[in-house]
Amino acid sequence: MRLLFVTSEAYPLAKTGGLADVSRALPIALKRRGIDARLLLPGYPGALEHIENPRILAELAPMLGISGATLVSGRLPATNVPVFLIDAPSLFRRDGGIYQSGNGQDWPDNALRFAFLSHVGAKLAMGRLGLTWRPDIVHANDWHAGLLPLLLSLEPAPRPKTIFTAHNMAFQGNFPPGILPTAGVPEDCFRCGQIELYGQASFLKAGLCYSDRVTTVSPTYAREILTPEFGFGLDGLLRERGDDFVGILNGIDDASWDPAADIHLPRSFRLGDISGKRVCKAALQRELGLPVSPKAPLIGFVSRIAHQKMADAILAVLPWLAERGAQFVLLGEGDRELEAEFAQAQERHPGCVAVRIGYDEALAHRLQAGSDILLAPARFEPCGLTQLYALRYGTLPIVRRTGGLADTVVDANARTIADRTATGFVFDDASLEALTAALERALALYTKPLTWRCLQLQAMVQDFSWDISADRYISLYRDVAGIAPADGTVDPIATDVQRHVAI
Ligand code: ADP
Repeated sequence: MRLLFVTSEAYPLAKTGGLADVSRALPIALKRRGIDARLLLPGYPGALEHIENPRILAELAPMLGISGATLVSGRLPATNVPVFLIDAPSLFRRDGGIYQSGNGQDWPDNALRFAFLSHVGAKLAMGRLGLTWRPDIVHANDWHAGLLPLLLSLEPAPRPKTIFTAHNMAFQGNFPPGILPTAGVPEDCFRCGQIELYGQASFLKAGLCYSDRVTTVSPTYAREILTPEFGFGLDGLLRERGDDFVGILNGIDDASWDPAADIHLPRSFRLGDISGKRVCKAALQRELGLPVSPKAPLIGFVSRIAHQKMADAILAVLPWLAERGAQFVLLGEGDRELEAEFAQAQERHPGCVAVRIGYDEALAHRLQAGSDILLAPARFEPCGLTQLYALRYGTLPIVRRTGGLADTVVDANARTIADRTATGFVFDDASLEALTAALERALALYTKPLTWRCLQLQAMVQDFSWDISADRYISLYRDVAGIAPADGTVDPIATDVQRHVAI
């Protein structure tokens, strides 16, 4: 089975968040299972620099007013996953972020930039770029690739089948309808309401509406976004999709995120011997200018600084934490006002609060390894990856019971501690009080080293590798493309396991 996986980011070529991690780890897992998975993404400067074995494959004919673009092929670093990069200098080769300029504003031509990604994807998928390789399935991700299922739906048969995955319903790629000619989309699609969302043209809605199947990244989030509270105006459409819509839990790249072999850590550790975690904690305290104190509970937060992630509540709880002698370390960027307020909190609580504004992959690993507790609360969370990394590193996560957080962390209470299923701390209300209460419970257990150690071990044995979920995707691909499984293959949809129950 040949699969084209279209995404706006893939680690380490480009990354702003969890989508990049998934766009690396899932294709690796699919390749391991014999799927001919290939990635397509924009040729940002960092991607062109880091792709392995680059080679110009094709000149792209002028399209959407863009000329001089080429298709570059190569490999995702340190993997056997083939990658196609779209080298369109006027769209993608620029300083700044992949979605935003250096001043934090979205690039004004984002509609055109990502429409171009979809148009090239459609041409590649239809075999119009002169390549011998053609996919059976196109898996488009998030609003950036949302127009791709629409464009393919306009093609005559035979055309590849399309899967669209919504990684976060809050990011919709909504633009004034006047951009549709620029984006190469027939205006009829707007008029008949299929991509119209509150008067805007929505690339996310295009993906949800025109793809053969829709997925999202956890079973609980899949249920939540069928409701107005979480659906951001698209819950009705998802309800209409019925059985064509499922939630499949994300996994983690267990080679990159492995405390026993993590190149970013000062000392490795593993299930049978976690003594190296103490070394990681001391090194993190030293690195961030905090007193090197083995006893002080060290609480980490590595995240976009955003309302979604309850960063405002975390900021508000810092004085409470400082009073209790806890240490707090933050690595993140996002909301400029909150960034400034976190920096002020560091001034106000020296020795207790350490704040690093910015993006730093290596420090993210050291933070996961050196912290005792990871804060990963959220007002909504499609899946969340940081809590999964935390579990693997014996760092107990504090999460809110929503989306993928609810699917992956088991709250520590008398029963779950006794039956050894507890892996972290889960609270319900998106409030400062509920967050504080969860922290209070965590700090109380932290003073009981034996119980804490049991919880850490229980967290570390959890298996959130891609093994099960990659099989679920394969099952979905086969189903939609009408390709029967090889003899003897077990259908994972039929052999559901509890944490992967599809809606
Ligand atoms: P998101 O909603 O941002 O995608 P996830 O939890 O799914 O949240 O994924 C976040 C990913 O981005 C994780 O790999 C996390 O380690 C990483 N990350 C977030 N902020 C930073 C940062 N400032 N520096 C380095 N890595 C970061």
